[in-house]
Amino acid sequence: MERTLSIIKPDAVANNNIGAIINIFEQAGLAVVAAKMVHLSQMQAEDFYAIHKARPFFGDLVRFMISGPVLVMALEGEDAVARNRELMGATNPKDAAPGTIRSLFAKTIDENAIHGSDSKENAANEIEFFFNNIELCVRTR
Ligand code: GDP
Repeated sequence: MERTLSIIKPDAVANNNIGAIINIFEQAGLAVVAAKMVHLSQMQAEDFYAIHKARPFFGDLVRFMISGPVLVMALEGEDAVARNRELMGATNPKDAAPGTIRSLFAKTIDENAIHGSDSKENAANEIEFFFNNIELCVRTR
């Protein structure tokens, strides 16, 4: 079993696509083990995306991520990191495979509906960024 961090971004939240996106995860065998809605501050968004600080789109990315609330989740399942990345589709929705979350719910690379950890190491760090041990639930049934 593996865990990964997923964020339903402000565009998808605003378009009322939370349920449809979680449905895709659940149908694919990923279980929600923690979830909360948050409206990130500029500092929190800059901190979370610190790895992209030098990229030309950093300012736009932060502005987008604080433009409205997001739904943050920890997902659990076999190969959760890779499986989540497959379900998300390519960063640019124009390149995303049919049926993926970004092909279904995103229009542009600037507003691409979903974030997902890109490695096991980043998944652990990102989950810790948002959730404490009490908020992370073990699925007992
Ligand atoms: P991801 O792992 O598929 O989300 O992609 P990256 O780690 O490469 O980029 C992180 C996020 O930065 C993406 O999901 C986009 O929201 C944003 N991003 C990436 N490239 C661009 C770009 O060229 N312009 C803008 N505005 N945002 C971008």
